[in-house]
Amino acid sequence: MIRVGILGATGAVGQRFVQLLDGHPAFELAAVTASEDSAGSSYRDAAKWRVSTPIPDDVAEMTVTSTDPDEVPDDVDLLFSSLPSGAAEVVEPEFLEAGYVVSSNSSNARLDDDVPLVIPEINPDHLDLIEVQRDNRGWDGALIKNPNCSTITMVPALAALDQFGLERVHVSTLQAVSGAGYSGVTSMEIIDNAIPHIGGEEEKMETESRKLLGSVGEDGVDWHDASVSASCNRIATIDGHLENVFVETEADPTIDEVAEAFRAAPSQDLPSAPDPLIHVFEDPDRPQPRLDRMVGDGMAIAVGGIQTTDSGIQFNVLSHNTIRGAAGASVLNGELLADRGWL
Ligand code: NAP
Repeated sequence: MIRVGILGATGAVGQRFVQLLDGHPAFELAAVTASEDSAGSSYRDAAKWRVSTPIPDDVAEMTVTSTDPDEVPDDVDLLFSSLPSGAAEVVEPEFLEAGYVVSSNSSNARLDDDVPLVIPEINPDHLDLIEVQRDNRGWDGALIKNPNCSTITMVPALAALDQFGLERVHVSTLQAVSGAGYSGVTSMEIIDNAIPHIGGEEEKMETESRKLLGSVGEDGVDWHDASVSASCNRIATIDGHLENVFVETEADPTIDEVAEAFRAAPSQDLPSAPDPLIHVFEDPDRPQPRLDRMVGDGMAIAVGGIQTTDSGIQFNVLSHNTIRGAAGASVLNGELLADRGWL
């Protein structure tokens, strides 16, 4: 078994890590860290547990440590990070200098030329940037990022449509409150309401998607040249980001050709990888967050409402934002690192 730890283990994403690592075939949880406020407490006392399955008994009794390389056992080979980006920006390099491999959710460094931003089914070859990263930074460890939760929902569908010549993408999102973490949106703000702004989210979708769909060049990634514009909205669902996507392509595929392209999206032979990657709904009113966020155990992408219009292709897409969009994405990246011999 590969011994792993979680940085920021008590938060919304950290709890998903704990849930997904329970009974994992290759990873054994050996360290949980959080802020100084939680350090020294048992995980049961420190985490405001909000996941529907109980805290695994062995994790409940673990002592939460501060997020410091000296507090994590040396025989831990892989760290999953779900720290706020401000904290991650400071702390992740300390772990990398200490030789740890970090699979991170946090938004810092995602666009750095030498940091692989990876969805295993889409761009596993971007892991090659780890060599460039080690040369540039002198780290013994390695940093790999997964994209923002709204980006990861859309990009597998865009990758499937790239065979038709992706030119322009417009996306409008309906994002769940869990995407903001526990302290992100108050009930007084969101009940009976929708908030047509999520700070920084639109820019993340516009940039990260082009890096993910790009190809590795000499010193970094040559980004895909499609234009992407996003409008991001928070609504009163708990989990599951729904997105309305409009795509212009060079070719004019039929609805059946679009659906077939989605169904043919390749999976990966990794423990947490869903097969199929993209689930296509025929019913025009699906996917819906409450009904469909757990498609493929929360790791698949659900697509429906495919239409072709004079302006191009239109569809709706959904994924579980704290599973596929966060903890599950990092775990899958960890599985890819193990499979490709980086651990
Ligand atoms: P959260 O619920 O606020 O949890 C934050 C975690 O980090 C907690 O364990 C917290 O510990 C710890 N922490 C906070 N400040 C710290 C510090 N200075 N040093 C060490 N540990 C610290 O946040 P979240 O929603 O899980 O998000 C975590 C990260 O994942 C963020 O970067 C977020 O942008 C990203 N992300 C979230 C989602 C999502 O759907 N929620 C999706 C994709 C990416 P305490 O409990 O001790 O405070």
